[in-house]
Amino acid sequence: MLRYLFADMNSFFASVEQQETGLSGPLAVVPMAGVETTCVIAASYEAKAYGVGTGTAVHEAKKLCPGLRLIEARPDLYVRYHHRIVEALESCLHVDHVTSIDEMYGRLMGTECQPQNAAVLAYKVKAAIRQAVGTRIRCNIGMAPNAWLAKVASDMNKPDGLTMIMADQMPEALYRLKLTDLPGIASGMAHRLAKFDIFHVFQLCALSEHQLSVAWGSKIMGALWFAQLRGCDLPYRPTQRSMVGHSHVLARLAAWTQGVQSGSEARPGPRIAPGR
Ligand SMILES: [Mg+2]
Repeated sequence: MLRYLFADMNSFFASVEQQETGLSGPLAVVPMAGVETTCVIAASYEAKAYGVGTGTAVHEAKKLCPGLRLIEARPDLYVRYHHRIVEALESCLHVDHVTSIDEMYGRLMGTECQPQNAAVLAYKVKAAIRQAVGTRIRCNIGMAPNAWLAKVASDMNKPDGLTMIMADQMPEALYRLKLTDLPGIASGMAHRLAKFDIFHVFQLCALSEHQLSVAWGSKIMGALWFAQLRGCDLPYRPTQRSMVGHSHVLARLAAWTQGVQSGSEARPGPRIAPGR
């Protein structure tokens, strides 16, 4: 049974710029126009095809993609789009948690939990965003029995994807992923797992709850990983990083905008996590 829908906008800032300007083709959003020493904040899919991504230095991006159009970030605009997207989703299902400027969860209810109905709902969400926000704003949708798995699923087909993972497809559905593709395993945790000779997702999935507890150094985390890797129904659980992430990103974007407008803040701009 599916329980959660996770929506993640594709190349969010770059897509907003394409929507606003009508520009298509390779485009990169940068903190400040005309400054070669900054990095790309977000790249359109056309620019990504040339190897330009979040964090690529501007001078390097220009080399990789001749003709790349650079656009100065407009944080206030992205915040306005964020609110319109949440509203569009709310017209289809209740948004349980907004986890970043371009990511949010909804909880499926009743017949929506059946895969066929869930797929209809997912396409309705995509259509609502296209209609109410703009045709350039596309998203990946992941659906699964728990919130963590729905997020994992959303990342498996990009752009504009729809991926469902059912409990009976677990754990094999995850075998093609790297350990660090799983939310909650960053390089530090991958390094720790390597000390236990865990290098692949299939090895992680084979661990008992006790072994997972030892690997994480916590019984609670062991039980959580054991359950989420088996597709158990678990609600969204904010990580320390995501709590800091979302509560601050909108505020930082707003503060940055005000600072830029009053000239009071020396930019490099907000720190924005990759994958926008
Ligand atoms: Mg995104």
